[in-house]
Amino acid sequence: MKSSRTDTRIITLGRHGLHDMVNPPVCHASTIVFPSLAAMEERDDRRKDLTYGLHGTPTTFALEEAVAELEGGHDCRLFPSGLAAIATALMAYLSAGDHLLMVDSVYGPTRRFCDAQLSRFGVEVTYYDPLIGAGIADLIRPETRVVYTESPGSHSFDVQDIPAIAAEAHKKGCRVMLDNAWATPLFFRPFDHGVDVSIQPGTKYLAGHGDVMLGAVITTEDAWDELNFTVQDFGQNCAPDDAYLALRGIRTLSVRLERHQANGLELARWLAGRPEVVRVFHPGLPGDPGHEIWKRDFTGCSGLFGLELIPGPADGFRALMDGMELFKMGYSWGGYESLILPSEPGKLRTASLFETTGPCLRLHAGLEDVEDMKADLAAGLARFTAAG
Ligand SMILES: *Cc1c(COP(=O)(O)O)cnc(C)c1O
Repeated sequence: MKSSRTDTRIITLGRHGLHDMVNPPVCHASTIVFPSLAAMEERDDRRKDLTYGLHGTPTTFALEEAVAELEGGHDCRLFPSGLAAIATALMAYLSAGDHLLMVDSVYGPTRRFCDAQLSRFGVEVTYYDPLIGAGIADLIRPETRVVYTESPGSHSFDVQDIPAIAAEAHKKGCRVMLDNAWATPLFFRPFDHGVDVSIQPGTKYLAGHGDVMLGAVITTEDAWDELNFTVQDFGQNCAPDDAYLALRGIRTLSVRLERHQANGLELARWLAGRPEVVRVFHPGLPGDPGHEIWKRDFTGCSGLFGLELIPGPADGFRALMDGMELFKMGYSWGGYESLILPSEPGKLRTASLFETTGPCLRLHAGLEDVEDMKADLAAGLARFTAAG
């Protein structure tokens, strides 16, 4: 039986070709020996034949195949981190003299890469309002090659109208890239919405257990060669142990996401009713500015969202953060545990405003019992106001 349903496919993705073991083994390799000169001449690392450890082993090939199918793209390449995936993908599609349209709500390190690195290679970057939609057409110049999107945006959770942006970008021959970290391919199908190049920081939900650094880039068939060549030239890949852990993580991605979604929505609704909370940034909540587009294009929410507190003294905010029991302070997200981070959603913007008056937080709803999570947050909010 060949099912097209995700929850069935996800169980065996990438397994073929690696014997009958349900978990493809970890294959470590640098040198691979060839039985003859003819075999050496025939094998092509750009075609993912086994040639040299740098270009992949059966373990990384299995993960590439699984992620490509999950995202609904043509093929996939892996990287040692999400940021490495983003940087290399941008280098693949941009050259000196080109122009890049970059969303103003983008993940901070991506922004830094554009400002500090792309500029060194003569690529001009213009930031645009995440809510621009079809208005992107007015910013596209003859030398614009890429329109980069991230939806929802980091920290502000603005939802972009990807189909409208992609339609305008394609009219003018630009490639559309998307950082698909928040939704994962389970809740947003990038290639059904006009995306050409999808980026998945596998560190987050794919691996899902707080112990792996990984990035993936998935493209359409048309965009594949540029990426594939560039990845080789930059010597990028991920380690087989990390690929193994990510393959394991993917098997439970769907059930984990269901619980992250339920816990996140429950907490977001509860926080929205608290007197210490001005706003919750969560596209899954009716009334959120991004809710309608989210409902049209996405099939679910992950556990990551933000909120703005009422203005309060700095020592109250510090007391809130320092006393958390379940929501630990730490970078990254997408693992099984709840996390909390101070956040300044509008701080880096240059093309659009995102105004807040009180301190902001970013929460990742983990897999703990939601009543315990509420109690932890309630105690934190009490510390916040007690200090006033
Ligand atoms: C974490 C993150 C990345 C980068 O992933 P790393 O594996 O940590 O480099 C990229 N984009 C978004 C939106 C992220 O949250």
